[in-house]
Amino acid sequence: MMQKITILLISYLLCISFTLPPMCMTSELKNYQCSKCATIVRSERTPSSLNCRAGGSHKWQNLGEAGQENYCCQKCGTLLENKRTPSSLGCPATGSHKWSHLGRVGDNTYQCSKCGVTIHNERTPSALGCPQGGSHRWSKLNR
Ligand SMILES: [Zn+2]
Ligand SMILES: [Zn+2]
Ligand SMILES: [Zn+2]
Repeated sequence: MMQKITILLISYLLCISFTLPPMCMTSELKNYQCSKCATIVRSERTPSSLNCRAGGSHKWQNLGEAGQENYCCQKCGTLLENKRTPSSLGCPATGSHKWSHLGRVGDNTYQCSKCGVTIHNERTPSALGCPQGGSHRWSKLNR
């Protein structure tokens, strides 16, 4: 009887130690942005609101689950690695964000010579919606 309980206990502990690490990895990291100072923080829960550099407290907006797709807001120029189209709430440039999907996160680094945004993408990102107007002008920075 005692032995059975011990085995149960051991398998329970083993189960915990095996399931915990992947659970930690998949625990949902979200992209938060302060709609006042435009700072992006990846966090599981709402970040501290103390000392926004735009004055007073940060005003955090949950933009969605962090992921492997690159999105850029045409209005404020924010670049976000998100799972799906981010929330449009609280664009620091006024009103709602206007997101363009630029491509999948990858090992290549590109920079737009017009708006200056730097992006890690699989291949040349989409040119849609440069915050400076018209299309992004991408240069590949790595060789
Ligand atoms: Zn802030
Ligand atoms: Zn925006
Ligand atoms: Zn651009």
